[in-house]
Amino acid sequence: MNEPVISAKGLKKHFVAKSSLLKDKRVYLKAVDGVDLDVYPGEALGLVGESGCGKSTLGRCLLRLYDVTEGTIEFEGQQIQNLPFKQLRPYRQKLQMIFQDPYSSLNPRMTVFQSVKAPLDVFKIGTEDERAEKVRRLLSYVGLAEEQIHKYPHEMSGGQRQRAVIARAMILQPSFVVCDEPVSALDASVRSQVLNLMKKMQQDFGPAYLFISHDLSVVRYVCDRVAVMYLGRIVEIGSKTDIFENAAHPYTQALLSAIPIPDVDAKKDRIVLQGDVPSPLDPPTGCRFHTRCPKAQPLCRQKEPEMVELADGHCVRCHFAAK
Ligand code: SF4
Repeated sequence: MNEPVISAKGLKKHFVAKSSLLKDKRVYLKAVDGVDLDVYPGEALGLVGESGCGKSTLGRCLLRLYDVTEGTIEFEGQQIQNLPFKQLRPYRQKLQMIFQDPYSSLNPRMTVFQSVKAPLDVFKIGTEDERAEKVRRLLSYVGLAEEQIHKYPHEMSGGQRQRAVIARAMILQPSFVVCDEPVSALDASVRSQVLNLMKKMQQDFGPAYLFISHDLSVVRYVCDRVAVMYLGRIVEIGSKTDIFENAAHPYTQALLSAIPIPDVDAKKDRIVLQGDVPSPLDPPTGCRFHTRCPKAQPLCRQKEPEMVELADGHCVRCHFAAK
């Protein structure tokens, strides 16, 4: 495999939940708590898990939208986790994000044309005419007609707004894009069109995606590899086949068992997890999943499992995952 475009090692992001002048009296919310993750050029890596498991925080840390508490982030060979704002600027062009809600991620006082052109203006790329031409071409590529590009966000449908947001993220030709639930706010009828557009853009322009979603069917459609996150840690990672056909972690198995099947007569053994995700303020000892795991043993309460490689690139954090 190639060198990763972005690589995180031991990444932690702890938010102060209760502050105090005394350091040992502070309470921390451990949103991301020791993540190792590589994303390779041109791939789409899915990141799945329940709400509150740290997926979005991890995405924002990788883009340096949050300062990290501990660990390293290497982007195209350069460690960026501690770079000050000015030195980070050249990397901002290549690191982009597509947010869940296209309405709140577009400036309501700017037309779509102005919003998509803004990154080119900020980085002073090309002449005024070249920028305008580039924006027109990209907006046409994403499916917005000439008469739509001078509209304001409130004059457009959700699908059109998300196309504009995707164009704005792609206008600088990034090499890594975090897509945070990019279709979950859209109607089902336009979801597949937007997903197809994102796939086509990846083929044509080649960025790597970190595709955050709670919808496993969407991840299966878009992604090449999948990482499963639970309470601030990656618990399983592998190819789409490893995860969807040979899931080895009990948490992944439970998530997969909850995917609805369109056939009403088809029988499926649903694994129902008991209780909610424990608080990231005080994660359980040992395996973090032991409070809800149907396969938990006494060892799971005492010892945290290491990540082990079951097969080429298929890694699992469980004491009892079968090789
Ligand atoms: Fe379940 Fe134990 Fe494996 Fe954790 S280590 S997933 S509790 S079996």
